[in-house]
Amino acid sequence: MTTMIPEYDVHVHTIWSGHSHASATVTGLAARAEALGMKLLCFSEHVHGPESLPPLAHIRRSIAELQPSCRCRLVFGAEIDADPDRSDGSLITSPPPGVELVIGSIHFLPGTRLLPPWDPVPPGTDQETVFQRWRETIMGLAANRQVDVIGHPGALIFNAVEVTFFDRILAVMREAAHISAARGQAWDVNNLIFAKLKEPYRRDYRRVIRLAYEVGVPLLYGSDTHNLAALGGYRDIAALWQHLEQPPLCELLRLPGWLARRFQVAAATDGDATAIRGRK
Ligand SMILES: [Zn+2]
Ligand SMILES: [Zn+2]
Repeated sequence: MTTMIPEYDVHVHTIWSGHSHASATVTGLAARAEALGMKLLCFSEHVHGPESLPPLAHIRRSIAELQPSCRCRLVFGAEIDADPDRSDGSLITSPPPGVELVIGSIHFLPGTRLLPPWDPVPPGTDQETVFQRWRETIMGLAANRQVDVIGHPGALIFNAVEVTFFDRILAVMREAAHISAARGQAWDVNNLIFAKLKEPYRRDYRRVIRLAYEVGVPLLYGSDTHNLAALGGYRDIAALWQHLEQPPLCELLRLPGWLARRFQVAAATDGDATAIRGRK
């Protein structure tokens, strides 16, 4: 197994989330990324609604203060919820001013504020309805021009419906992947998701990665860390990769050339060769 340190991380939370470890300060995370030799670190704090925006302004200010003494490019991002009341892939609120990268994520059971797996799906919930609303949401996220990255694709639905839905879920994800690939929208390969997925979805999550790769979706590494120590961690991703031949894990962990160019990271070396894209 590789011991490579990721060159970047696009999915990082801080104390401003309200539920992260006290170690996850913007200053601490930036210093740790710098010490690890990372080239790009994207702070992607949660946005659950307009009430989440003031904390993001603090993060934006901290980044501006820290960047001049930091070689690592610090990106002001946001992980914004898909609106669970609309289920059409629109975001719960518009991206905050100055945001540079938007991750659109499905966190809530459609029509509720329940968060599977912490909040169990209530007994009697019609799984077909959940599935159809999820389908409309992820297809909408793929088409949503405000969304640069789909966060942990599949996490909600895999925890909300039975395994009998698996093939239908994959078919929807392939449809969404074609839309994402056509317009260069990335998907988050998220280290935190694996601990949350129930079996056998956890074991079979590689099928999601594989189809995204085959279709040509740019894949981005995200620790989704909520504490300092887990920054750059990819243990669960590496375990999954033992069952994947393509793309090589080291490619996922290397800063893609297109991302480096977008954020003007001078350290980009080999351009498109580092971008994980399918074999179209
Ligand atoms: Zn998330
Ligand atoms: Zn997250």
